[in-house]
Amino acid sequence: LEKRLRDIEFRIPKKYPEVEFLTYKDRKRILVTGGAGFVGSHLVDRLMMEGHEVIVVDNFFTGRRRNVEHWVGHENFELIHHDIVNPLYIEVDQIYHLASPASPPHYMYNPVKTIKTNTVGTINVFGLAKRVGARVLIASTSEVYGDPEVHPQTESYWGHVNPIGPRACYDESKRISETLAYSYGKQENVQVRVARIFNTYGPRMHINDGRVVSNFILQALTGQDITIYGSGKQTRSFQYVSDLVDGLIKLQNSNYSLPVNLGNPDEHTIEEFASIIHEMVGGKSMIINKDAMEDDPQRRKPDITRATNMLGWQPLVPLQKGIKKTVTFFRRELMRSRHSERN
Ligand code: NAD
Ligand code: UDP
Ligand code: UDP
Repeated sequence: LEKRLRDIEFRIPKKYPEVEFLTYKDRKRILVTGGAGFVGSHLVDRLMMEGHEVIVVDNFFTGRRRNVEHWVGHENFELIHHDIVNPLYIEVDQIYHLASPASPPHYMYNPVKTIKTNTVGTINVFGLAKRVGARVLIASTSEVYGDPEVHPQTESYWGHVNPIGPRACYDESKRISETLAYSYGKQENVQVRVARIFNTYGPRMHINDGRVVSNFILQALTGQDITIYGSGKQTRSFQYVSDLVDGLIKLQNSNYSLPVNLGNPDEHTIEEFASIIHEMVGGKSMIINKDAMEDDPQRRKPDITRATNMLGWQPLVPLQKGIKKTVTFFRRELMRSRHSERN
């Protein structure tokens, strides 16, 4: 399984790969909302290859059919074009609720829609879970800590979020998602899992995603200026997507219901990060500074003691290795888009 997962992680195959055989007793019907997106599609690969039945619900705002195309037609797979802001009536055993724009340019594009997705959309997911008795894992975020005054961030920290700033539509609605999880847990006995995901990167990030990893790699590959927003002294800690998927599955299947940070504690300034990518990709790009983003969190690094103790989880993929795979992916994406422009 490990090897086959490695094979398909960025080389999106035309025909679906082989899956494990699970007996009826072990096979689950699993809903992945946002399953055509970056993280969702890698999660779908893992769940499909383990032999489960997977239903993807996605409105294709940032997700693409191409990310899950290799499963379309498989008897264990279903792809539903649906906006989670509208009610959804299906029967499932487990839910991974990932539907939400994730990168700052995407969630700021239509802030009201972002809020609806993470509030009304999340209510629909919990309404569904309550009706069918399914367990729900929600994809929360390190953004619930805002511009943190505690470093590294532990799950017991309540955060420092500006409720009326440009990031608020995302941060506050993700905070409401968490509140909904524990309210449905307490009031309706829905089983809930809350993953606080820190910056994650890897193949299948959208070419216009706008987050730092894809921007820097694309800029380096195309010889454009590498754009640091602000001084570049702000920090982030980057996790490779396969580590996240591993953590999400471990958390969903654990007995632990409080929030759990999932991230890689390997912290870098954005300035360092620009140099690392510049060096790895090569080319003639210059590294330049642009205006800072409003309310940009200045330091971010997960404390993963809880994930390690409760789930036996820790990230395994070092930055250099993960970036190399991501660069390979974007090289192919660029070739593909040049090829389709020519034809
Ligand atoms: P992504 O944009 O690639 O995926 C999000 C998916 O949700 C897309 O397929 C999109 O089309 C879908 N979607 C958005 N609104 C929807 C709606 N109203 N109805 C149905 N589908 C909808 O982003 P991603 O990086 O894969 O993020 C997945 C989840 O993880 C998100 O909830 C995000 O907030 C969370 N997260 C991601 C990161 C990260 O660094 N990647 C960090 C923290 C949290
Ligand atoms: N809902 C859904 N699918 C279901 C069950 C409920 O989409 O299978 C939606 C329903 O439209 C409702 C929301 O989930 O608006 C919350 O459901 P809940 O049962 O908590 O609230 P109520 O229906 O009592 O308002
Ligand atoms: N950033 C940058 N140049 C870019 C994109 C982002 O310097 O082209 C910075 C951004 O200001 C932030 C960090 O990189 O400090 C991470 O940004 P990203 O949008 O990837 O994620 P988030 O801010 O949500 O952690």
